[in-house]
Amino acid sequence: MKAIRVHEFGDADALKLETVADLSPSEGQVLVRVHGVGINPVDTYIRSGTYAVKPTLPYTPGLDGAGVVEALGDGVSGLSVGARVYFGGSLTGTYAEQTLCESSQLYPLPDNVAFTAGACVAVPYGTAYRALYDRAHAAAGETVLVHGASGGVGTAALQLARALGMTVIGTGGSEEGRAVVAEQGAHHVLDHGAVDYLDQLMELTSGRGVDVILEMLANVNLGKDLTVLARGGRVVVIGSRGPVEINPRDVMARDAAILGVVLFNASPDELAAVHAGVYAGLDNGSLRPVVGRELPLAAAAEAHRRVMEPGARGNIVLGV
Ligand code: NAP
Repeated sequence: MKAIRVHEFGDADALKLETVADLSPSEGQVLVRVHGVGINPVDTYIRSGTYAVKPTLPYTPGLDGAGVVEALGDGVSGLSVGARVYFGGSLTGTYAEQTLCESSQLYPLPDNVAFTAGACVAVPYGTAYRALYDRAHAAAGETVLVHGASGGVGTAALQLARALGMTVIGTGGSEEGRAVVAEQGAHHVLDHGAVDYLDQLMELTSGRGVDVILEMLANVNLGKDLTVLARGGRVVVIGSRGPVEINPRDVMARDAAILGVVLFNASPDELAAVHAGVYAGLDNGSLRPVVGRELPLAAAAEAHRRVMEPGARGNIVLGV
């Protein structure tokens, strides 16, 4: 089978398309025929060798994907050959035609969701769900700022917040990205590159500010976020690429809270609950993963370069 392999940590050119031996499942393992691979920024951090998670070289990258169960190892129950699934994590890497998973890494993919769309569910929706429900305890009727709404986690968060009954403000940095934010149901769309966009946000909320902020780039925005929170507001830090200075008085004055989230910290029971909720939304059509760009498996290096560039418009997926 074809797989992307990394022999040395480094830039995107470290991703090489190779022919490797077909996989077969051992006891407790599930073999999946991969039809779509979701690209996440964390895949690039791991590939660079600078992230806390450092796989043994050589390795096949990837966390997210979707496909069909091809074979079951001894002792696997509750799954059948031919079942459509999406997965979050695997034992052997997902940038490949086949992957081996534990059954706990697999979730059913409803028939109405294409494999390419299913490929960008586990990490983006899992993260957005954890941030909005489990960390911010967001409630219907509240207002949320999805700060960086044009990318994978942002578009998932917009749909989840709309389904919950929140008033949703989303930001994008490009015209195309802001069009995606509007299409995905934001009530108001702002440009996080504009000088006065947080003034516009305060006008939109009649000076009150927002109840919840889902923050994709905290090293740039956290200090300013704290000034546009309503009393009792919560900021959930989802993404950050460096340190930032804040004024703690902005938190005190609002009885506000700064929360963090890392999807990898979720327990198996918490993940099961998250994906039960996500399944329901996929099945009833309120959650519709946005595939902004589809590239072939061989273009994994290009996908890694693009996911780190500005101008996000949903997810980047490798079709397999
Ligand atoms: P993505 O698809 O590449 O999207 C990145 C988003 O950040 C885009 O919406 C982008 O907007 C936005 N952005 C860029 N500059 C911004 C600014 N100044 N202010 C606000 N937003 C800005 O990535 P993703 O998958 O959505 O992930 C977003 C971040 O969360 C990444 O840093 C990722 O590593 C992190 N993440 C964390 C977890 C976790 O468990 N905590 C899980 C998944 C992802 P434009 O391109 O339109 O400018």
